[in-house]
Order: sequence, then C-alpha cells, then structure tokens
Amino acid sequence: MNHSKQYQSLVQGAEIKRLYAVVARQIAAFVAEQDMKPGDRLPSEHKLAQQFNISRATVREAIVALEVFGLVDVPVNCGAVVLDPHASTALDQAGVLSAGVSGEGLEEVARFRILLETDGARQSITNGGVDWESALVAAHHRLAHIEFRMKSGSMTNYELWRQCDWEFHEALVSGCGSALHMKLHKAAFDQFRKVVALEYRAVGFRGLRIIEEHKAILDAALARDSEACAVALERHITAFFNAANRAAPVNRAAVS
Ligand SMILES: [Zn+2]
Repeated sequence: MNHSKQYQSLVQGAEIKRLYAVVARQIAAFVAEQDMKPGDRLPSEHKLAQQFNISRATVREAIVALEVFGLVDVPVNCGAVVLDPHASTALDQAGVLSAGVSGEGLEEVARFRILLETDGARQSITNGGVDWESALVAAHHRLAHIEFRMKSGSMTNYELWRQCDWEFHEALVSGCGSALHMKLHKAAFDQFRKVVALEYRAVGFRGLRIIEEHKAILDAALARDSEACAVALERHITAFFNAANRAAPVNRAAVS
C-alpha cells in the first residue's frame, strides 16, 4: 500500500480527529520504518506533502506537533531533524497526540489546570504579601509587553511569550505556600502548554482577548477578589479549549 492510499484509508477511518495528527503519526511511522537516528534529516516539506498527498501547511502543522512531543527538532532556517525516534512510541502508547489536542482529552487537561490554578490563586490571595503582589505585577508587565508586540500576528516572539505566560501564571499561584501544589500546577500547565502550542499555530495568537483575560486575572488578584479571579482564570483557560475546537472541530458525523 503506498503512502497516499494509506493516508486515504486513514482519512476515511472513524478515529480521525485532525488531519495534522494523522500526518504526524505517519511521519513518526516513516521515521521508525527508515530506522532514522538522532540527527538524521527528515525529507523536505515539499517531498512529505507529495508523499502523503496533502498541503505543505498540514505537513508544517504535523512537524510542529512532532516537535512539541520531542520527536524532531526544527533549527531556525533548517529542515526538521530527528531528535528522539522513540518519542513516537511513547506518543502512540499514551495516545498523547490525539488525546492531547481534541475531544475529552483536551477538556480533561484544561479542567485539571483550572482546578489547580484557581485553588493556588485563592490560597495566594489569602496568604500572599507584598512580595507576592510585586512578583505578580512584574510578571504581568513583561507578559503585557510581549503580547502587545504579538498583536500584529508575528510568530517570532512565540517562545518568549510562552515563557512570560508561564511566569505570570506561576507568580499567581506562588503565594499558595505549598511546594507540592506548585509542582503539580507546573505539571498541569506543561501538559496544557502542549495543547496551546498546537492551537497557537492552528488559529494564530488570540490577540486582544488574551490580553484582556490576563489583565482581568491580575486585577482580581490585586483586589484580593478570589471569586472574580477564579472566574477570570476559568474564562482564560477555557478560551484556549474553545479556540482549538473551533479551529478544527471534531467531525462527529464521521464517528460511528
Ligand atoms: Zn495565560
């Protein structure tokens, strides 16, 4: 069976959630079949698009997904290079790629983060002193600065935004007084972040809305209003989930 036919039969299958997730699995299978080693170069976007009979945009999304899950590295201005060929096994076993980006898997990750972050924020609002407030304000200032620059849709600041977004949310829960809570929050955030990385590239930066969401979280925290902070956080985190679903809704009609 050639790759194109394989791809067609996959598309017609009932498990299809998103095209790029399917293609990512196909590329991972190709890496395994070819017994590729770390440092080996993947075929060009153009060749992969021809091989799977799909657009280059979909190939690009699939490679981003593989990058997020550690299978490939994409150095600036270079083609994708294999990083860890075994990442695909972990990815398949855990069903991470499909579970992490669509349907209930994504919702579950979002809910877990909401739970840990709203509780951490509540504790911080109750216990945090002026140092907590100062750290939060500083983290928000950096985040707002980078988000203002990203409004134009530029992708170049994405890594910096990722870091600043994490530092803001970390600062928010940093007054909770529990190292264990902080550790679990980071794990939930990182898992959620994988979804966001995919969503970001699928639908672009959410622009003004995300800026307002972060501001609402900050304002509620500084006003020591736990309820408003929890509502703002839930709205912020859920918005990623909704945007990801809007970008590529699950084709429920195809699921028998
Ligand atoms: Zn955020």
